[in-house]
Order: sequence, then C-alpha cells, then structure tokens
Amino acid sequence: MAAMTSTTRPFLNRRLAEFGTTIFAEMSALASRTGSINLGQGFPDTDGPEEIREAAVRALRDGRGNQYPPGPGVPELRTAVAAHQERRYGLSYDPDTEVLVTAGATEAIAASLLGLLEPGDEVVALEPYYDSYAACIAMAGGRRVPVTLRPHEGAFRLDLDELRAAVTDRTRLLLLNTPHNPTGTVLTRAELAAVAELAVERDLLVVTDEVYEHLVFDPAEHIPLATFPGMRDRTITISSSGKTFSYTGWKVGWVTAAPALVTAVRSAKQYLTYVSAGPFQYAVAEALALPDSYFSAFRADMRAKRDLLADGLTEAGFGVFRPSGTYFITTDIRPLGETDGFAFCRTLPKRAGIVAIPNAVFYDHREAGAPFVRFAFCKRAEVLTEAAGRLKALRG
Ligand code: PMP
Ligand code: GLN
Repeated sequence: MAAMTSTTRPFLNRRLAEFGTTIFAEMSALASRTGSINLGQGFPDTDGPEEIREAAVRALRDGRGNQYPPGPGVPELRTAVAAHQERRYGLSYDPDTEVLVTAGATEAIAASLLGLLEPGDEVVALEPYYDSYAACIAMAGGRRVPVTLRPHEGAFRLDLDELRAAVTDRTRLLLLNTPHNPTGTVLTRAELAAVAELAVERDLLVVTDEVYEHLVFDPAEHIPLATFPGMRDRTITISSSGKTFSYTGWKVGWVTAAPALVTAVRSAKQYLTYVSAGPFQYAVAEALALPDSYFSAFRADMRAKRDLLADGLTEAGFGVFRPSGTYFITTDIRPLGETDGFAFCRTLPKRAGIVAIPNAVFYDHREAGAPFVRFAFCKRAEVLTEAAGRLKALRG
C-alpha cells in the first residue's frame, strides 16, 4: 500500500492509484538484496508434512487435477472441508452447495467482495488490516470504514462501541479477521457474540477471514463467527491450507457459506481464475483429514517459536505484544527511541541484517500504526536464535 506517484504508475487506474507494490514483495526483495534474515513476509522456511507433499506428487502422477478441475473445486476437497468444519466446530455444510474452493484465501476475499458489493457500499473492517482487503474493496467500488484495534494491557483490542458507531445505513458487510494479522489478537467469545448481535440487529453480511484458525495459543481459542446465533446464514467463512499445512505456494483456499452466498462468490470467482491448483486440491483434502496430533504438534511448535522470538525482541529492547494467534509478533519501537516504523524497517537490514514489516502499511490512519513493526516467527529455531542475537545490536 505504499503510496505511488503518477510518474511511477502512469497507467494505473484511479481505483488502484493509492496501492503500490505490496509491502510483502517489497520487503522480501529487500531481504534478498541485502542478504538479511527475512522476518517480513509470512511464510515458513520449512515445508509441511511429507505425506501431504507425496499426496500431491501422487495426484500429479495419476493424472488427477492435471486438467481443469470442476469450478467449485474437486469433490474430495469440498467433502474434506465440510468434514473439517463439522469435526472441529460442529458446523455442517453441504459440500455441493455450501463449499467453494479458491486460489488461496486471497481469491476468496476478492471474489467475496466483488460478488457481494455494490459501488458505494461501505465495508467495516478491523484496522490494521491485511493489505489485500483495502485493494479488493477498492476494486469492487466499495468504501472502507476502518475500526482501529488499540493497544490495551499488552494486546490490540477491539472497541465494541466504535464498531457499533461505524455501522451506517450504507454498511453492506463487516470484514473480520480472527486470529488477526498483524496484531496476533484472537477475538474472544464475548467480543464475537457482540459482533454477531450487531450483524443480526443491522442485518449485515460478514466475511470472516480465519486463515490462522489453527494457529491459536492457549488460553486463547478460535471460535468461528458462523457458530453464533443467527450467523450461519449471513457469514462467509474463509480459510486456506497455506498457513495450516505450511504450503503457502500451493494457494488452495476455500469459502464456506449458505448456498446463495456461495453462488454470489462463485459468480465472481469463475471470472478471476475459474479454477486453480488441481493436483494440490487432492493433497489438501488428505491434509484436512490428518489426525488431531498433527494440529496440536503444529501449534506447540509455533508456540515455542513465538516465545523464542518474543523473548529475543524483549531482550533487544522492543515493546512486545505477545500474540494469542497467527505467526506474527507486533512490536513497539518507541522503547528503542524510534517512532517511525517505515524508516526503522528501511534501515534494519543495514543495522541488524533483519527484514520486518512496518505496521503502518495496514492502516488508513498511518500515524496510529507508525511506531509498530511486525516480525514473523514461522522460521527454524536456529534462524530465530540468530535473528534474536542480531537484534541485540540495536540496544547500542
Ligand atoms: N488473509 C490473511 C489474514 C493473511 O495473512 C493471508 C496471508 N497468508 C491471506 C489472507 C492470504 O492467504 P492465501 O495465501 O491462502 O491466499
Ligand atoms: N499473508 C502473508 C503475510 O501477511 C503474506 C502473503 C503475501 O505475500 N501476499 O505476511
């Protein structure tokens, strides 16, 4: 979302004029240019389960998915998604009419907004927000209305009164994200119940991005918004295999929602990619059926990594918001005598050989995000230990 001038983007239309190269591409390029440890873009530095990779190889060899798969996704994956929602959350969805496979959560978000919004519709979203939200709302001709999560007792919290006040007669939908990127906040049962009540009272649709559903650390728990009274039929739930199974390059995501909502999302999706990732869809179907032990070991591993990096950042002098979910840590750089996250991230490769993300890019109110910087901890323990050592240099 870095601001671009008309000289660098002379042909870009007005809807996208404010969006430049995504911060993730920019920062990953900076990391490889400078040889820094990349704690910017969120992707693991080790692949997911071997047997799932082998399942993809088998599908490729057996010729499953090498030609266009069905528009809604292969039946095996739609069935596996429905079974996952039932087994984990007691939510029942019909694999034929209530599940749609997408090119990652990214396409699910885009297709939901393009399929549901009329020009001028307002979308209330939690700020800081994942960068594609703002761009997709703009592409759909909508208007974003941010509700800012603010630091309170070591975490970024939602102010429910502010959320209520943000809803107007022009609000078409709420765009939620829990566990929340970049803050690591996991909305509580009470907060979600209040969001649900508001949605029912104001007759709103909710698009909820739950890609980090399996990256939640005790005592926090992930509760899908669709499980709350009155929500199942007004909620479009989005998730993805990228985070849960550590194959972010496969880009297999999905939507679960009532048939009429899935139809609206599919109507847009069919003209974006139509279909994608044929053989990988079969592999992800197998991944979703992995035993509980996979999911708990994954969570325990990420929790240990969270603590390793959080302790390192604390020791280096950052203010640390230890996340309840996701694989990101948001820090406050003011204890280091810094105030501008952009400037800080630009010089961090030189000062410490590390790349991080300035949270300000996720804000409309740039100044509210200025002192915060995000670090990803989905990396090997030795990489995090090395990073922690390098960051100590910042203490001077
Ligand atoms: N939503 C959020 C909150 C994310 O952090 C990401 C990045 N992984 C996505 C959506 C995109 O997911 P995918 O890679 O499946 O498109
Ligand atoms: N979701 C990842 C992050 O927040 C990045 C995905 C991307 O590069 N678009 O770091």
